[in-house]
Amino acid sequence: MKIGFIGLGNMGAPMARNLLKAGHSVRVFDVVADNVAKLAADGATVAVSARDAVARAQILITMLPSSPHVRAVYLGDEGVIGAAVPGTTLIDSSTIDPQTAREVAAAAAARGLAMADAPVSGGTGGALAGTLTFMIGAAPDTFAAIKPVLAQMGKNIVHCGPAGTGQVAKICNNLLLGISMIGVAEAMNLGVSLGIDPKVLAGVINTSSGRCWSSDTYNPYPGVMENVPAARGYSGGFGADLMLKDLGLATESARQAKQPIVLGGVAQQIYQMFSAGGAGALDFSAIINLYRRAVPGSRA
Ligand code: NAD
Repeated sequence: MKIGFIGLGNMGAPMARNLLKAGHSVRVFDVVADNVAKLAADGATVAVSARDAVARAQILITMLPSSPHVRAVYLGDEGVIGAAVPGTTLIDSSTIDPQTAREVAAAAAARGLAMADAPVSGGTGGALAGTLTFMIGAAPDTFAAIKPVLAQMGKNIVHCGPAGTGQVAKICNNLLLGISMIGVAEAMNLGVSLGIDPKVLAGVINTSSGRCWSSDTYNPYPGVMENVPAARGYSGGFGADLMLKDLGLATESARQAKQPIVLGGVAQQIYQMFSAGGAGALDFSAIINLYRRAVPGSRA
């Protein structure tokens, strides 16, 4: 299949490589020339612009930082919607606000183009391994058409409903994740301050009603688990600045919907405080450092 791919960063590059490995002809574009050159070395063909990437594609996939980039690439003067041939299916895997996803899908539909929002979870590890979860907002026939291609980059491909609902699922999940990580950080630090061994406390929580992914799979307290960012100085993983971005999408969407998200607003401010302290590049579980003394990101 002829696939155009725009946005070859931490996620997009390994996703595009998995499509090459599956035997597709992949034509790539990124504003950073070095990112394009690396994919070309792995067998991709080079597009000179976003429009060039979509011009001959049966499917176009974008993996861009956030909503303004998606607007520019799809709706701008040089946007791909104006250049796609009839029959091309557009897939945006960036994490953006649902309102923008719906607006872009409507503009695509007005030109007779099928479109899906298809944000992912699973991080860079999942992108490399081809085990991402895709959350799809699209018409049922569009979902059925793109599922086999997405299955070459991921293992769970979930149809969430019509346009925008993939982004809704993504930002609601990350809203909960951001809040739960702060909750685990508070509980772990309180317990240790009051004299319990952190491994014992985590063991109790993980078999009790406080159990959650932030505690039993990604515990933020150093020394409790191996192979998590807390075991390697909070390097790698999912950056605190990306969590801050996703909480911003959730709070802005909540404002537009007039739906209160009280803990989400507080969580956003906590990650913002952490990022303002210069630690936004660390994994988001490093938020626990705000509660500890004399460690990077600590306010003490
Ligand atoms: P990234 O910043 O590493 O990559 C984005 C790429 O888009 C960059 O290479 C950049 O040069 C390119 N780009 C920006 N504007 C462009 C334009 N106008 N035309 C062409 N290329 C352009 O980001 P990432 O970590 O790959 O994340 C991409 C998306 O996936 C984000 O929305 C992010 O929230 C989401 N996401 C990331 C992770 C993660 O762990 N990194 C996990 C799940 C979802």
